[in-house]
Amino acid sequence: NAVLCARDLRMTYGRGTGLVTALSGVDLEVAQGETVAVMGPSGCGKSTLLQLMGGLQRPSGGEVWVAGRPLTGMSERKLARLRRDAIGFVFQSFHLMDELTAVENVELPALLAGRSSARARSRAQALLEQVGLAEQAGRLPADLSGGERQRVAVARALSNEPLAVLADEPTGNLDSASTADVLRLLDALRSDGQTQVIVTHDARVAAAADRLISMRDGVFVEETRLSHGSGGL
Ligand code: ADP
Ligand code: ADP
Repeated sequence: NAVLCARDLRMTYGRGTGLVTALSGVDLEVAQGETVAVMGPSGCGKSTLLQLMGGLQRPSGGEVWVAGRPLTGMSERKLARLRRDAIGFVFQSFHLMDELTAVENVELPALLAGRSSARARSRAQALLEQVGLAEQAGRLPADLSGGERQRVAVARALSNEPLAVLADEPTGNLDSASTADVLRLLDALRSDGQTQVIVTHDARVAAAADRLISMRDGVFVEETRLSHGSGGL
């Protein structure tokens, strides 16, 4: 029942003399409802791993399955649809649309997936409520704090009820109060059984996961199962 599965995943960037090996053969299975944190020094391949697992890039070697479906050989169109329907991405820098209000940002994936505007809007409003931002629905990202922007981004990631949320340093640009807000939110999602893979430098974020993977130089060096997952918050 692995939602995400990777076998002998490898990634090399560049050509000729400019080759950079980002991943040198990693195996990962993320079970339904599991929250996995990935830590490691800058440049060890964490973002690359997340991008390959979510079909944002194609690996140089190895294989990724999402809900049992192999990404290898999938056309760009099918891959784009799978990203849209099965994966919710959260980035360090939020990646919200500046011209759209919070609720418009959150409903966008549902509209792109072909939902009616009424359904997309009501789901977006419910998601903003879930992340504690019902009052801010009509605001532009510029009028929100960093933590609020990231909670909007998490709400957007949940728009299409993804099989997995993939978050790349979701608290990396936030002050400690906003980090605590986003951490609470991710922990609530974990309690709800949302499958998540979270790349983080923050030990508090990592401590709230079910499993912690430590990476170095493109490989996994340690895996720890955390018993409680509540992070002691
Ligand atoms: P991390 O997320 O752990 O910081 P990354 O996966 O971003 O690591 O990067 C792993 C290595 O691959 C680094 O050496 C980085 O410079 C390199 N890299 C990442 N993305 C690219 C890219 N698009 N082109 C070239 N090199 C890249
Ligand atoms: P975000 O903040 O949204 O997570 P980043 O600011 O970390 O995004 O940007 C990372 C992007 O830059 C990724 O797409 C990664 O593949 C790319 N990248 C990382 N290292 C390199 C590199 N050495 N050369 C080219 N692209 C890189």
